[in-house]
Amino acid sequence: MKQVIARGLLSALGGLTLYPCLSLAQSPVAMPQALARSVPKAECKSNDDWSEPSFARHIYGNSWYVGTCGISVILIATPQGHILIDGATEQAAPDVEASIRSLGVNLSDIKTILVTHEHHDHIGGVAQLQKDSGAVVLTRKAALDALRQGKNSPNDPQFGELKNFPPISNVQAIADGGLIRLGSVKVNNIPMTGHAPGGSGWSWQECENGVCLNLMFSDSISSISNASYRFSSSGAITSKLRASIKRLSNTPCDILITGHGKQSNLLNRLDGKATLSEPKACKELATTGRENLSKRLSEEARSRSR
Ligand SMILES: [Zn+2]
Repeated sequence: MKQVIARGLLSALGGLTLYPCLSLAQSPVAMPQALARSVPKAECKSNDDWSEPSFARHIYGNSWYVGTCGISVILIATPQGHILIDGATEQAAPDVEASIRSLGVNLSDIKTILVTHEHHDHIGGVAQLQKDSGAVVLTRKAALDALRQGKNSPNDPQFGELKNFPPISNVQAIADGGLIRLGSVKVNNIPMTGHAPGGSGWSWQECENGVCLNLMFSDSISSISNASYRFSSSGAITSKLRASIKRLSNTPCDILITGHGKQSNLLNRLDGKATLSEPKACKELATTGRENLSKRLSEEARSRSR
């Protein structure tokens, strides 16, 4: 069996995928099991604590939430091996691994780890997860050096204000807009530069009883920065952020997942306290991102005229 990486689906977004094929383990892959009733299900004290441990939750089809109370980590399971998206904080890595194991899944069956963006709250745990699973980590070229070095690049709007993270080995680049195929699952890369230079959204489809839904793990689109960065300066990544917001708005989106779950009320939706599928959620998030960016640009203009 082989993992096949197809050429970029969104060819207009550029680039060839240079990612090689990988051999997969020959032994049968354990699929996630229904959650045991005996698993303690402590409520989160906060929905924004990046490292507070939580428990695994089913999303839809073969997709599962294995993140913390505040940071999303997603497992997409296939009989040919699994895909993980993000790894939460460095401190949270053992808890993320425990959540994955609670589903009856072997870490060594994770073949690919995808990342949203190169900030410590989302990928601080990836080095550990990579080491313990042996998976290859895939990111856009724009984030490659940051992941390998464990620190943010100088063109990151928050440069200098973010913690470093453990450098990640075995990282490879995927072309912007590339398609990753593992078994019958196809995960599309959605380039989302803006909050960080190498940001990615990831979209895929899951089916249950013949009903197929589009899942979208959106990257952050918040225009926050260090004290000196100006989104209105000529070298800023503002036009790319606008393009990212537009892509988010246009991506098929029945189930929205955000890196900080509270931004999409994610855990409540997964726990049945709110509607799981909200097809307008991506468009609404995009509208909020657009409004926040204009507000930010107006503030910069006001501070210039003072
Ligand atoms: Zn961030």
